[in-house]
Amino acid sequence: MGEPIVKYKNVYKSFGDVNVLKGINLNISPSEKVALIGPSGSGKTTIIRMLMTLEQPTSGTIEVNGHNLWKMERNGKQVDANESHLRKIRGDIGMVFQHFNLFPHMTILENCMAAPIHVQKESKESAKQRSIEMLEKVGLGDKTDLYPSQLSGGQKQRVAMARALVMRPKIMLFDEVTSALDPELVGEVLEVIRDLAKEGEMAMILVTHEMDFARDIADRVLFLNEGVIEAEGPPEEILINPESERLQSFLSRFT
Ligand code: ADP
Repeated sequence: MGEPIVKYKNVYKSFGDVNVLKGINLNISPSEKVALIGPSGSGKTTIIRMLMTLEQPTSGTIEVNGHNLWKMERNGKQVDANESHLRKIRGDIGMVFQHFNLFPHMTILENCMAAPIHVQKESKESAKQRSIEMLEKVGLGDKTDLYPSQLSGGQKQRVAMARALVMRPKIMLFDEVTSALDPELVGEVLEVIRDLAKEGEMAMILVTHEMDFARDIADRVLFLNEGVIEAEGPPEEILINPESERLQSFLSRFT
């Protein structure tokens, strides 16, 4: 599958004296789809927030595309990364959260166009064209002029995905994107992710409690427990015939 696009090397993270991650080692290939499962509080969100540079590891390193997230080279020396280094790395990564965080005073088209124009300094015309294309991809091509308040939760979450896709990420992070939705709206959101996964190009990391979904789309499932990757492997191995007792007990809550 080629050189990994993401590498976590012996990553530890503490908040105060709470040790949340205890030695994460993880390589992700450029088109790999990874599902991250585990009990609440096990550190799943922290793992992906660190990739988005929203949290810094206490120790260990994270590389994206061969670039250390928190260090950069200057005059042949490794120095702390500055904001422009971080911004460049973040440009390869799209993230969709549990809560959609759309701008309420902008139409959904404007929501999608904002980052390409203001962050990537793209022309308004080309940002608009690609935003429309991405809104069509998530099935909202006929809603471009509506405001977030006029949409259902599932539709808002699909806008959040289009908004991330407009930036042409190489890696997409999904953090429990269906857990704030009414049950009848979950399917439409998972369907969009499923389609993206089928296209196959991007690496995807999904934190999810939807085990059937994880089984369908993931190349690899990681079971995180108390800050350690306790089991990992193909979905059949992890979700259908798990060896670890703790994993069995975790999975039994979903059947
Ligand atoms: P999960 O996504 O598996 O539910 P999280 O990564 O959200 O787990 O959280 C893991 C642990 O880290 C929890 O105990 C949580 O309270 C703690 N935690 C997460 N973020 C912070 C923070 N910013 N400050 C203090 N504690 C935090």
